Amino acid sequence: MLRLNEIKLPLDHSEAALQKAILKKLSIPEADLSRYTIFKRSYDARKKSKILLVYIVDVETPKEKALLKQFKKDPHVTLTPDMAYRMVTAAPDDQDLRPVVIGTGPCGMFAGLLLAQMGFRPILLERGKSVRERSVDTFGFWLKKRLNPESNAQFGEGGAGTFSDGKLYSQVRDRKHYGRKVLTELVKAGASPEILYINKPHIGTYRLVKIVQNLRAKIEALGGEIRFQCRVKDIEIEQGQVRGVMLENGEVIACRHVVLAVGHSARDTFEMLHKRGVYIEAKPFSIGFRIEHPQSLIDRCRFGEQAGHERLGSADYKLVHHCQNGRSVYSFCMCPGGKVVAAASEPGRLVTNGMSEYARDESNANSAIVVGITPEDYPDGPLAGIELQRSLEKRAFELGGGTYEAPGQLVGDFLAGRPSADFGAVYPSYKPGVKLGDLEGSLPRFAIASLKEAILAFDKKIHGFAMNDAVLTGIETRTSSPIRIKRNQNYQSLNTVGLYPAGEGAGYAGGILSAGIDGIKVAEAVALSHWSKPLEE
Ligand code: FAD
Repeated sequence: MLRLNEIKLPLDHSEAALQKAILKKLSIPEADLSRYTIFKRSYDARKKSKILLVYIVDVETPKEKALLKQFKKDPHVTLTPDMAYRMVTAAPDDQDLRPVVIGTGPCGMFAGLLLAQMGFRPILLERGKSVRERSVDTFGFWLKKRLNPESNAQFGEGGAGTFSDGKLYSQVRDRKHYGRKVLTELVKAGASPEILYINKPHIGTYRLVKIVQNLRAKIEALGGEIRFQCRVKDIEIEQGQVRGVMLENGEVIACRHVVLAVGHSARDTFEMLHKRGVYIEAKPFSIGFRIEHPQSLIDRCRFGEQAGHERLGSADYKLVHHCQNGRSVYSFCMCPGGKVVAAASEPGRLVTNGMSEYARDESNANSAIVVGITPEDYPDGPLAGIELQRSLEKRAFELGGGTYEAPGQLVGDFLAGRPSADFGAVYPSYKPGVKLGDLEGSLPRFAIASLKEAILAFDKKIHGFAMNDAVLTGIETRTSSPIRIKRNQNYQSLNTVGLYPAGEGAGYAGGILSAGIDGIKVAEAVALSHWSKPLEE
């Protein structure tokens, strides 16, 4: 197949126009075009008066060889790379112990799926509930302010991103096309096939629930096992080799391979691992607020007259500002037409995040605007970042009135340094509610100063970003893991054989897609090492 890059067409082009453009680019008659598929579709909105759709297409033609020769100097016409996923090995017939995967977020799910596809019959252990039951608890918390610390926006089947926008893009280098494998499996599990070719695909929260159930069914059909409400409370390590995991009820599952895919909120698990001597380092992360604007403001700014066009959908943005104090502030997890959500997992602490439904048709755009911090800001050991998160989340809980309402402030007041009393044109979406006041004391002083400077700088890029009535909701602390459980080139912990730190919690992914990709990599490493001898033998 031939891959054609950079085919640009007007926003309102007909389907026939794409075929015509392919024929024109290759200078071939229709009879020489057997078939084409869209590999990627994005848009070029640099000129708002003339927004273009940009395609990458894969073309089947009997003239492939001749065309490759003819276009050998044209970087926009190449051979389509082979992106098919192939299993690296298969489980042996005499497999004794089954590999254990801790956590059923995207990382654990994809590690489990791959191990199951290779025939290893993995056991997946999840501290939270199945996704349906978990939905009841999570929405219950948002509506009734009753937090279940084991079943919430962070914990339960599907992991942290289940109630999310379901954005599926990542910036990881992916030479082996693992991302394609993740997307393909998601489509098989019920996601729209468009996620395979849209530039910035998203699934939307309700669809994710069904997809997670279908992935589970597939793992089980392949001989895997998924156990809910099974928190791993301890890990048995003998002479530097994993021997088993212990569940909350005292049951021990003997194993030699443990994929640790616990996400960034498994603070108790990190503490346990640290106590057991597993090598952990502190890592940078970011803190800040969610900001909400009218979605129409973002659409107008990005798309001008074309705002609202169905091929464009709701606009997003990505902003970065390097502050005078040396810090960087950036927008994170932007949710067009979405909601700010309560993402706490510990009682008496408050943290926000964002989600959207597939249609992204709510009236507000929200994103986190966060400032980067490093272990120099929390120098007291590998777990000090967790303690900082905890103290900030506790302060936010108190500022919100101690009821899981979030502290909030209008942007105009935040910039002017006065508390807010009334909402204006933007009504915040966070449930169970926003308590207006002063966010000044909710974060360290340098962070507040950085955020103020950045909001004004962002206003130069998106006119209206600093509008008085935009709402800030506090706080964001779980932008990524505050630790890294370092691993070697075999994907195993630096000092614990058989422990495979993976995904976001271990510091090796950020987002659904990259966590899924990491799950695949780690599953391959487990499969390839399965019968390797432990160090002491
Ligand atoms: P997680 O998804 O966090 O999964 C870890 C799992 O391990 C959890 O299910 C947890 O219950 C379980 N667990 C923890 N400890 C134990 C234990 N001791 N025993 C047993 N089980 C345990 N990313 C995007 O790319 N796009 C988005 O649109 C997006 N939106 C988000 C919206 C929200 C509200 C949130 C909270 C996150 C969002 N993210 C989004 C981030 C994304 O969800 C994470 O990056 C991703 O889920 C990380 O995957 P993971 O598998 O590494 O960890």
